[in-house]
Amino acid sequence: MSANPRPYDYIIAGAGAAGLSLLCYLLEQEPLRHKRILLLDRDAKQTNDRTWCFWQTGESPFESCLKSKWSALYFHSPTFSKLLDIHPYQYKMLDSLSFYEHCFGLMKKYPNVEFRQEDIIRIEPNGTVHGKRGVYQAPYVFNSAFFKIKQLPKKHYMVQHFKGIFIKTAQPVFNPKEPTLMDFRVEQHQDCRFMYVLPTNAHEALVEYTGFSEAELPQEAYDQELKAYLRDFLHLTEYEITHEEFGMIPMTDAPFPKQQSAQVINIGTAGGATKASTGYTFSFIQLQCSAIARNLAQGKAPLAGTGSGFNKFGLYDSIFLRVLLEKKQEPRQVFHDLFSKLPTPLILKFLNEETSFLEDFRIMNAVEKHIFVPAALKESLHL
Ligand SMILES: Cc1cc2nc3c(=O)[nH]c(=O)nc-3n(C[C@H](O)[C@H](O)[C@H](O)COP(=O)(O)OP(=O)(O)OC[C@H]3O[C@@H](n4cnc5c(N)ncnc54)[C@H](O)[C@@H]3O)c2cc1C
Repeated sequence: MSANPRPYDYIIAGAGAAGLSLLCYLLEQEPLRHKRILLLDRDAKQTNDRTWCFWQTGESPFESCLKSKWSALYFHSPTFSKLLDIHPYQYKMLDSLSFYEHCFGLMKKYPNVEFRQEDIIRIEPNGTVHGKRGVYQAPYVFNSAFFKIKQLPKKHYMVQHFKGIFIKTAQPVFNPKEPTLMDFRVEQHQDCRFMYVLPTNAHEALVEYTGFSEAELPQEAYDQELKAYLRDFLHLTEYEITHEEFGMIPMTDAPFPKQQSAQVINIGTAGGATKASTGYTFSFIQLQCSAIARNLAQGKAPLAGTGSGFNKFGLYDSIFLRVLLEKKQEPRQVFHDLFSKLPTPLILKFLNEETSFLEDFRIMNAVEKHIFVPAALKESLHL
């Protein structure tokens, strides 16, 4: 360990979705382009370790890294199946390797930005980062490497767990314009489970088996369900698996502190960017990191104006988690009610936390009131 910490303006601890997004937003800001920035990650970030999907109305700064984008999505329940127009949104798929290559390519243009493959051991509140190979110091550290979920009595804890396989078929079997966001025709096992199918061309698709529950399943269960779905719904028995991914995303309303101290700011999942009711994180990371970069460029504290007051969407997420956990209604019925009764862009707007109270009311009106009203009351009264 070196005795004298190296001086940097910013240390980005963790070069995943949030760390690298933040880097790009910092470098977009003219006043910040000459800052000495150090990125630390234990991984070289040279593999495709996950696929990110998100929806938006405009263009993403990572548009050139997209693998596909779609203007309509299928929803299936046992009694409702429809290809739903999502205009003005587009559903976008980004593979992490293209994203990492894009960000590392940008980094090479800036001699003031340094990447170090480093196992971080701890981060002190004063901005000192201790790694296995060295000690680093900066007035601001942006952490996405470490987070701990606090176990609190009145909070809800679930995980979104999934296994995805990228398959290739000899025959053209997919319509690349018709992805499936949720297919609830699969056995629910008294749980909340669905398939997700994203075709990138007529021969290739990502097929993912997802559950929202208190714990993940044994690995064989994902394989069995994927195989059965491909056979029974897509009539596929012969295909090549070209890539696999497994993931677990926290679905909890337990708080994720936005900062560890005035100098150590949490970003990404560590900073609360994962939406408790869906696990979607990528879009929220973009909002969080672009706001931090804008604040720094204006000479403000990184989290200035990001608000710590009442968040109605946090309350909605808690209500939804309670409904899922209490299982007074089959969870897939909630999704059926939403997708069969409402315009899909409104649902996407709500899940992106962009809706007005009036629009929220339309969402609430679509679900079973005898289930949601008591859950909302209990949440509001912290029971
Ligand atoms: C397989 C998978 C698929 C997902 N798909 C989607 C999706 O489609 N849409 C969506 O919105 N969200 C998705 N998510 C959720 C979320 O977007 C991702 O988890 C996202 O990567 C979170 O970004 P992050 O920067 O917080 O964490 P990460 O991207 O995981 O970055 C954290 C970084 O910290 C590094 N690190 C950790 N510990 C240390 C240490 N001690 N020392 C040094 N480095 C360390 C890691 O190597 C990693 O690079 C997915 C998650 C997974 C796991």
